[in-house]
Amino acid sequence: MRIVLLGPPGAGKGTQSSRLAQVLRVPHLSTGDILRAAIREATPLGLKAKAAVDSGALVEDEIINGCVGERLAKRDAEGGFILDGFPRTVDQATMLDTYLRHTGDEVDVAFELVVGLDHLQQRVVKRAREAMAGGEAVRSDDNEIALQKRVVAYLQHAASLSDFYRQQGKLVQVDGLAEINAVTSSLTDHIASTMPRHPPFA
Ligand code: ADP
Repeated sequence: MRIVLLGPPGAGKGTQSSRLAQVLRVPHLSTGDILRAAIREATPLGLKAKAAVDSGALVEDEIINGCVGERLAKRDAEGGFILDGFPRTVDQATMLDTYLRHTGDEVDVAFELVVGLDHLQQRVVKRAREAMAGGEAVRSDDNEIALQKRVVAYLQHAASLSDFYRQQGKLVQVDGLAEINAVTSSLTDHIASTMPRHPPFA
């Protein structure tokens, strides 16, 4: 099962991806998490990506494509994955298709969490407050200026990316403002009805 999650910053991609990964028993690959870990550990990838991530800009396709390619080549991703935060541009989506074609695989479904822009700031403020309350560090890009930039970057590519998957008949839009469990159910219901032989539905 190869799933990609699309949607604006703060739409809930991370939450839903990790739930889906648990249900489907495939790895949850978040490019944001991979980049943040690389930045924390000051790896060559982290050093290259830091300025873009902190400011809310997109990391260059070449850098992120290489990083995703490496991650997908690991054994645990052979049987499937939930990609969260990738692809974000049509070029990235094309790279992903090309990559998967080598092994005769393809993306099964692209779920888009639809959330109006006016709700995003609230969501991100909530995430920052929850992190602080839990004694965790607030993300360096969960501030007003970086969020605006992330939204602009999202809007630049969102429509063409959705069209890319729509044209392939793979786009499934879900109301990202619904209650968390209801969103998860919409996603798993879709998978169960279209891929009934996939564990745990079989
Ligand atoms: P969100 O979706 O909430 O903005 P993410 O954790 O997915 O957060 O991403 C955080 C940042 O990491 C992005 O703003 C961007 O700088 C970088 N990033 C993550 N995924 C990609 C990608 N596919 N292409 C380019 N940059 C990316």
